[in-house]
Amino acid sequence: MSRHFDAIIIGTGQAGPSLTARFAAAGMAVAIIERHKFGGTCVNTGCIPTKTLVASAYAAHVARRGAEYGFAVNGDVRVDMKRVKARKDEVAGRSNRSVEESLRGLRNCTVVQGHARFQSSRTVVVNDEVLQADKIFINVGGRASVPPIPGVNEASFLTNSSMMDVDFLPEHLVIIGGSYVGLEFAQMYRRFGSEVTIVEMGPRLIGREDEDVSQAVREILETEGIQIRSNAKCISLAKRDSRIAVGLNCDEGPPEISGTHLLLAVGRTPNTNDLGLDQAGVATDQRGYILVDDQLQTNVPGIWALGDCNGRGAFTHTSYNDYEIVADNLLDAGQRRVSDRIQTYALFTDPPLGRCGMTDAEIRKSGRAALAAKHPMSRVSRAVEKGETQGFIKISVDKETKQILGAAILGTGGDEVIHVLLDVMYAKAPYTVVQRAMHIHPTVAEFLPTVLSKLEPFA
Ligand SMILES: Cc1cc2nc3c(=O)[nH]c(=O)nc-3n(C[C@H](O)[C@H](O)[C@H](O)COP(=O)(O)OP(=O)(O)OC[C@H]3O[C@@H](n4cnc5c(N)ncnc54)[C@H](O)[C@@H]3O)c2cc1C
Repeated sequence: MSRHFDAIIIGTGQAGPSLTARFAAAGMAVAIIERHKFGGTCVNTGCIPTKTLVASAYAAHVARRGAEYGFAVNGDVRVDMKRVKARKDEVAGRSNRSVEESLRGLRNCTVVQGHARFQSSRTVVVNDEVLQADKIFINVGGRASVPPIPGVNEASFLTNSSMMDVDFLPEHLVIIGGSYVGLEFAQMYRRFGSEVTIVEMGPRLIGREDEDVSQAVREILETEGIQIRSNAKCISLAKRDSRIAVGLNCDEGPPEISGTHLLLAVGRTPNTNDLGLDQAGVATDQRGYILVDDQLQTNVPGIWALGDCNGRGAFTHTSYNDYEIVADNLLDAGQRRVSDRIQTYALFTDPPLGRCGMTDAEIRKSGRAALAAKHPMSRVSRAVEKGETQGFIKISVDKETKQILGAAILGTGGDEVIHVLLDVMYAKAPYTVVQRAMHIHPTVAEFLPTVLSKLEPFA
């Protein structure tokens, strides 16, 4: 016996629930399957809880700087981690409940809880029940990678998921991995009051960014007292009484760090190994990412893969955009493609880094003629008024077409202001549109025309 649906959706991440709602509204019978928490990574262990924690850390940081703003705090600013966690649980819990309730409230939608596994290209088994559909959508996301470092199984370690249960202040948090996830946790825990050491095997933090961005972020973190060990590969982990010894292969600094807690933030692994993809004939790459075409269909007609598991993006907005592409193409005869989107994301340290388009390194590699300008946040009046002058704005444009090629805004409001440039890029309009626009004073965005008036040949 099997139950038949028009569509089966596996996973309630950032694409699945919206796709379900859109299909159900179009009159299709949909089954959506979730094995763990509704809302997936972003809602439960990713964006929402971490940005809620970042907000607590920011508040503590500003309170400590009270004297600079003209107010006094009686005594030390101490963070109550139980209350910080409770606030995070409340915010994330609200989103988690909202995803579940909205799915359960949908007409034409059947919510199934359990682990889904393909039995064939048209059937999925959950809790010994067979579900069948001609269209199946995979939105299974990913999990923190655990590298095979000697001793990793003996040393107790944390990941972004188990960090969500932490309701105490680690005395010394060692973070392996100096990229986006690691840096956000590093700064927030330093601001909560922990000693923090970041171990990065590459020569610099956030190695995908340009060197000036990496360097500025490093300086911001070091100013707050975070220890950074770059060019240091973690080669062993060992439990020593109540501490964890992290052995390093490095040319500089001691070859061992002793911390009280260890966070592994060394990348993500797609949740595709236990999905029975071979039963359906769905192909993956060597790292387990499901191979998809430009409209997100797998090599098996009738099966699509959306979100982190397809390796075409690692953000909530890329997963949500995947949903829009698939829904518009299937329901509204759209022709949307993954390759139409422009790379954009933020690093939510304080100040944040907003990024869009190409890095300088990518522009250089492309060989195109470009113009570029850079402006320090210390000369942006809004940043000065707020007492948040770290970072810079930099923008590159194509010399011939005048279109914006890429930008990095590391500074207060950078995660928001970047959208001014991003939307002009989507419009394929020349940068002069921004340069001649009248912006609100005093804002960070009002300086974009000024920055663009300083364009010079790309160095
Ligand atoms: C610490 C951290 C911070 C982040 N911060 C940001 C940020 O600020 N901004 C941003 O854009 N992105 C951020 N991300 C990334 C973002 O969380 C993900 O890109 C986003 O959640 C998209 O995920 P998804 O839709 O692919 O699936 P997910 O959200 O991972 O959901 C997949 C769901 O599928 C379920 N599932 C898996 N296998 C099965 C199965 N076999 N059967 C049934 N159910 C299954 C899982 O339980 C899960 O609920 C962050 C990630 C982390 C780890």
